[in-house]
Amino acid sequence: MQTSLASQYRNTPEGEVAERVLRACVHCGFCLATCPTYQVLGSELDSPRGRIYLMKQVFEGATPTAKTQLHLDRCLTCRACETTCPSGVEYGRLLDAGRAVVEQAVGRSAGEAVKRSALKRGLSNPALFNTALKLGQTARGLLPGFLKDKVPAADPAGTWPAPRHARKMLVLEGCVQPAIKPGINAATARVLDRLGVSLVADAQAGCCGALAHHLNDHSDALAAMRRNIDAWLPHLDAGVEAIVMTASGCGVMVKDYGWQLRHDPVYAEKAARIAAATKDISEVLVAERDVLLRLVPNAISPAPRVAWHPPCTLQHGQQLGGDIEALLVACGFELTPVADKHLCCGSAGTYSILQPEIAGELKTRKLASLAAGQPEVIATANIGCLTHLQSGSHVPVRHWVELLDAALAGQLN
Ligand code: SF4
Ligand code: SF4
Repeated sequence: MQTSLASQYRNTPEGEVAERVLRACVHCGFCLATCPTYQVLGSELDSPRGRIYLMKQVFEGATPTAKTQLHLDRCLTCRACETTCPSGVEYGRLLDAGRAVVEQAVGRSAGEAVKRSALKRGLSNPALFNTALKLGQTARGLLPGFLKDKVPAADPAGTWPAPRHARKMLVLEGCVQPAIKPGINAATARVLDRLGVSLVADAQAGCCGALAHHLNDHSDALAAMRRNIDAWLPHLDAGVEAIVMTASGCGVMVKDYGWQLRHDPVYAEKAARIAAATKDISEVLVAERDVLLRLVPNAISPAPRVAWHPPCTLQHGQQLGGDIEALLVACGFELTPVADKHLCCGSAGTYSILQPEIAGELKTRKLASLAAGQPEVIATANIGCLTHLQSGSHVPVRHWVELLDAALAGQLN
């Protein structure tokens, strides 16, 4: 698309991104077919092409309005449109730039600003979130239904093997995951321990920065990234093989640290090094596939029927579609057919709280697809999807590594 940037955006980081991405879009509309908000709302302005057009107008000098902001807010950042686009349009980069300039021009109402700030502080602070969750779990029986659904029942972690191997990997503990599902990282540690790798964590690291990033607070997001880089670099220097992500929403963010800090003279190189060392747990286990298959019992019988939900941050954000399904099947699980796997479940970070109607509709549609094959369990790879889907499902929703851990321990059936 021919683009002529307004003078105020020339030679700015946002303007540079906008010019490059806008030029790549040929306006073909192929992306509309796979956009969840277009499917739910049916309006061009809630499609990738419509949003690209809105952002083009802004970067060419039009004054953004609250309506412009609403259409950008309604985007899930699922990036299904990137996977579909034949021209390689980096929609996610453009959206980040567009949201930043629109927010600066339009602002937020006082109520909206308080809500967004509370979400950012509450969810990205593990101590605060843990306390709030424990209070909610204690009073769970007294909560109204809609709130009870948002408070998951307590779930014990199980043992985390003490470090004993020469091979070591580092794990990002995460902000909400250790409180809601501490068993996910413990299961990962047990699986890796069987493969001869000790999994360790660094308490100085914290939220990956994704929460602040998606709420448009770039300075808080960059501060979180620098803190994690400072915590992790000494481990890489000491020989840790990889930084392992068990939540694909965090993984997509940490793999982007190099880009996010590219203009920082002190951190650019360090951030690129951290990003290069970061791996989703599926990448680690696919690389260890042969050893893993020798450890899994020959026959998991009867094979549990699993409906697999690939998070957008895994299949679109990290382009890691298909590997986990293949590994689960090779390990003996039976995967049920699921339609429209490419579509978002509506969780999308804080989206399910900020856009509850669209998120609720997407959850209903996703659960119907997942339930169609009558699974005994739904498996996924991101804590946000897991809790969002579980809040509407009687079928248990688990992290796929927990299933693998149970299979290795002979505790599946
Ligand atoms: S983003 Fe890609 S698929 Fe969508 S209109 Fe532009 S070129 Fe076509
Ligand atoms: S990121 Fe997802 S919701 Fe946003 S425009 Fe692309 S496909 Fe639609």
